[in-house]
Amino acid sequence: MGKPTGFLEYIRKDDPSRCPEERVRDWEAFHLSLPDDARAQQGSRCMNCGVPYCQAGMMYEGRTFGCPLHNLIPEWNDMIMSGNRGHALSRLLKANNFPEFTGRVCPAPCEQACICGIYGSSITIRDNELCIIEDAFANKQVKRRRPPQWSGRKVCVVGSGPAGLAAADQLNHRGHSVTVVEKEAYPGGLLTYGIPNMKLPKDVVKRRIELMTDEGVSFVCGVDAADPAVAQRLLREYDAVILCCGAGKPRPLGLDTEGVSGVYYGTEYLKAAVERHQFALEPAVPTAEGRDVVIIGTGDTASDCVATALREGCKSVIQLVRRPEKDYLKDGKLPLDYAHEEALAVHGRDPRRFAVQVKELVKDENGNLAGVVTSDGDTLPCQLLIGATGFAGCREDVCAAFGVEADRTVRTEAGRFSTNVEKVFAAGDMRRGQSLVVWAIAEGRTAAAEVDEYLVGYTNLMRCM
Ligand SMILES: Cc1cc2nc3c(=O)[nH]c(=O)nc-3n(C[C@H](O)[C@H](O)[C@H](O)COP(=O)(O)OP(=O)(O)OC[C@H]3O[C@@H](n4cnc5c(N)ncnc54)[C@H](O)[C@@H]3O)c2cc1C
Ligand code: SF4
Repeated sequence: MGKPTGFLEYIRKDDPSRCPEERVRDWEAFHLSLPDDARAQQGSRCMNCGVPYCQAGMMYEGRTFGCPLHNLIPEWNDMIMSGNRGHALSRLLKANNFPEFTGRVCPAPCEQACICGIYGSSITIRDNELCIIEDAFANKQVKRRRPPQWSGRKVCVVGSGPAGLAAADQLNHRGHSVTVVEKEAYPGGLLTYGIPNMKLPKDVVKRRIELMTDEGVSFVCGVDAADPAVAQRLLREYDAVILCCGAGKPRPLGLDTEGVSGVYYGTEYLKAAVERHQFALEPAVPTAEGRDVVIIGTGDTASDCVATALREGCKSVIQLVRRPEKDYLKDGKLPLDYAHEEALAVHGRDPRRFAVQVKELVKDENGNLAGVVTSDGDTLPCQLLIGATGFAGCREDVCAAFGVEADRTVRTEAGRFSTNVEKVFAAGDMRRGQSLVVWAIAEGRTAAAEVDEYLVGYTNLMRCM
């Protein structure tokens, strides 16, 4: 601990955000960074409390407390305070392959567990983490690391989301030859096609993929491993296969959508928006521009849909939430996330309506969606209905192609990543169920340790669980 009284002297200062009125007019990142002296003060607030629950990463009553990656938080907070950013980087990279992702989108369960937060406000752990890694990239401190020698073992990772990328990165650094196959045109999984650009710019994902490629990982996009012939080939050609295909099967909306056009799942809509605005493609899913948009659901996906619809220039946006408002109050107030702030700025009101569900769809004579009838008897104009009501597990087709047993998610023994099929492993949302980027990285790292042990009989890779 560099400054014993730091937590008494300085108050918590979060990274500022661009104002909602301005940021909603573009797709650029909305987070800004603190100046260096203010950052050093934030680092010095860490008490080095002796029992750093912030790095414990535990599940308690279904919620995560502490960092699932066991990031060495007090150490790098101290080094931020003393200005030793180089050492901070090396300690950060010990536990986290991709701090530039978690530093932007992690809900920071570490901060929930911070001792400083019991009587005051927790340390700005996530912002500190982002500052270390972005500073290092800006100053060319993130160096290419190639393994000193190759093991001659070949590993195929199926799926290039954070779990697949973490597993690939770990095994590549151990000297195994890693190929990542991905069914989409670009790698990154939900980092690329789910989380919108303003939260996680796509050039940040691209920068990491380029670095990994430079370090020896091969990426092959446009390959669907759910094709049994592809699966059999991968099983033949590789010493181990790790399935990291996510858990993106949407939960059905429970509405009769037969013959109605204009109803999509949140992930379909967000993917199309990325393709349209970041990759200049023309996807089949329509833009929200000029449309009355209704979004069903709450949570990250629903918020990202609201923010995306606003940026596309929707005529109106309403978010229907099944549970009553009182279930969401914190200290008597309804928390606003970034999308709700933006809706207030653009349309002058919070887009959420609570304790309401869609009962029926109204279509015009051409089968186009024209409105929705709600459970409170209202008819809302709507030409684009987006369902963001959660996920029902992983897709069965990939599991069937590899002969892997699954029940919503791939079945593995508790705390293990190997499946019922010899040399096939599973990690990330596909094994765990829809979760968080930080858990996906933790899964990928731990699966890599198990695969390494399987290939060479021992491992020195770290496990997170
Ligand atoms: C809209 C949205 C917003 C989110 N926001 C956040 C957030 O702010 N913070 C946070 O921590 N978490 C967030 N999450 C959750 C987080 O993105 C996921 O938990 C995480 O991406 C899971 O990583 P994964 O690698 O297991 O799977 P994914 O990221 O889903 O990647 C799976 C990959 O496998 C590929 N694949 C699937 N089938 C095949 C096949 N047959 N052949 C080849 N490849 C295949 C897919 O194309 C995809 O690239 C969000 C999720 C969504 C949907
Ligand atoms: S990865 Fe998430 S939980 Fe871990 S230190 Fe960073 S912000 Fe906290």
